[in-house]
Amino acid sequence: MFAVNKRCNMMKFGTYVFLPEKAEGFDFHLYRVKPEVGRRMPPQPDMYSNIAIFGDNVTARNHPDWISQSPLGPAWRTNNNFNVRWEVLCATQPEHREEQLDYIEDVARHSPGVWLNSIHFAEHGHCTCPRCNELWQKSGLSWLEWRRKEVTDYMAQVSERVRDRAKKKFVIGVLPDPLTNYERFGVNFDDLAPLTDEFLVVMFSKNYATPWYWEMLTRNFKKLFKDVPLNISLYVFGPGDDPREVPTARELLTVSVRMARAGVDNILYLAEGASQLRNFQKQAVEEVELRETLRSYGGKPVQEVLDFVKSWEKIVQ
Ligand SMILES: [Zn+2]
Repeated sequence: MFAVNKRCNMMKFGTYVFLPEKAEGFDFHLYRVKPEVGRRMPPQPDMYSNIAIFGDNVTARNHPDWISQSPLGPAWRTNNNFNVRWEVLCATQPEHREEQLDYIEDVARHSPGVWLNSIHFAEHGHCTCPRCNELWQKSGLSWLEWRRKEVTDYMAQVSERVRDRAKKKFVIGVLPDPLTNYERFGVNFDDLAPLTDEFLVVMFSKNYATPWYWEMLTRNFKKLFKDVPLNISLYVFGPGDDPREVPTARELLTVSVRMARAGVDNILYLAEGASQLRNFQKQAVEEVELRETLRSYGGKPVQEVLDFVKSWEKIVQ
């Protein structure tokens, strides 16, 4: 087992970072070796590796003809018909698929495991490129079922590379839509469950002022994922952020506690690097009164979050 996971059978708390820096006081670390901007960084031997597959600005720039197509236009990040924050490639592009399989296996061999993002079609209505149309026609399946099969079959290949060949931990990341992931992205959770060790759901927001919704989403995903552990990542401080426009420590503490009581297995905190996480830890420790109030919010998992935050007292002094 990964050496920093000292606290077994309890909720674990991870960092999710753009820089290869391990903030003190967390159980594990997830490093963005290939984020959606497409930049590739060397994997670290003691940090899990996070890879975005089809969201890939660099590859889209080098191969503009690989961009995902739809009746509402291609998946360039400038296409406001969709919530695409980066360029998204066609999910059946064979050269990209093959190259990513080799890349992911190599990264898995040089780190404790691989956590994926952007595993699916860009959005509803994607992809209508000539290759996808031909593959769909040949499949004899409905459009949505064909897309589901493409995503599942490719994830089975990636899973085989990471789990069976590299023998490393494998985590599939999905977007925070419990009900229409299938229609929008071609993702079927039951198909993916046997292929992955755990799920990651990215729940990023510049504020968590309404924790009720996040708690509800946590319950939804716990129900859908059944026995597969649920990791949720929360937004702390992204690259280039204005400190006045990021979630407060109060919001992050509250939403963490409310996700804990709704059954989340592990929580990750996204930041550029260790210093932003240290600021968050310091601010969280200073919220003495709120931490005391939150003790009344629930049983063991809630107490685990608050005990964990308490353990930061000696780190940030
Ligand atoms: Zn296509």
